[in-house]
Amino acid sequence: MGPPGAGKGTQARFVADHFGVPAISTGDIFRANVSQGTPLGVEAKRYMDAGEYVPDEVTNRMVRDRIDEPDAEPGFLLDGYPRTLDQVGELDGMIKHTGHALDAAVVLTVDPEELVQRLLQRAQTDGRADDTEDVIRRRQEVYTEQTAPLIEVYRERGILVEVDGMGEVDEVTTRIFDALDVIPES
Ligand code: ADP
Repeated sequence: MGPPGAGKGTQARFVADHFGVPAISTGDIFRANVSQGTPLGVEAKRYMDAGEYVPDEVTNRMVRDRIDEPDAEPGFLLDGYPRTLDQVGELDGMIKHTGHALDAAVVLTVDPEELVQRLLQRAQTDGRADDTEDVIRRRQEVYTEQTAPLIEVYRERGILVEVDGMGEVDEVTTRIFDALDVIPES
C-alpha cells in the first residue's frame, strides 16, 4: 500500500521476485486492458483518466480471476489491491476459498511534496494518461479518503509493516526486506 507515487510497483517486483511469486498489479492489468481495447479496458479507462477508482465489483472480479491462475497457487503479492474496505472483505473471502492467508501488508510512506515531484517526473518519462497535475491531486484525495483507512485495519490484524519510502530505490528495497526479516537476493 501507499499513495500514488510511493513506489509500490517498483518495489513490488523486487519483493515478488525474491519470494518467487507473481506481482499482481491491478493498475498494470487495467492499463493492459486499456491498450488492448477490451471491454474491461473501455470501462476502466473512464475512471482511471479522472483519477477515480474503478468500481469495486469490476476490480474484485478481475482480482478473483487472476489469483485463481495456477502461477498464484504458491502465493502472490498484490500491488494496488485492496484499496477500499469493500475490497478488503472481498479479498478475505477469495483467499479463504483458495486456502491462502495474508502474511503482511506493506505500506510505503513518502512526503506529499516528494510524491507530486515523482509523479510529475514520471509524467515526462512514461507519459501515463493519469499523471497530469489535476488528476494526480484527485488520486491523492481518493487515496486519503478510501485507502488510508485500510492501514488501521491491517494494523489491528497485526500484519502491518510500515516502511519509509523516501530515498533511493535500493535503500527502500533494503528497508522492506529488513522489515520483512529476509535477505534480498543479489
Ligand atoms: P497509482 O497508485 O500510482 O495511482 P496504479 O497503477 O496502481 O497507480 O493505478 C492506476 C489506476 O487504476 C487507479 O487510479 C485506479 O483508477 C485504478 N485502480 C488500480 N487498482 C485499483 C483498485 N484496487 N480499485 C479500484 N481502482 C483501481
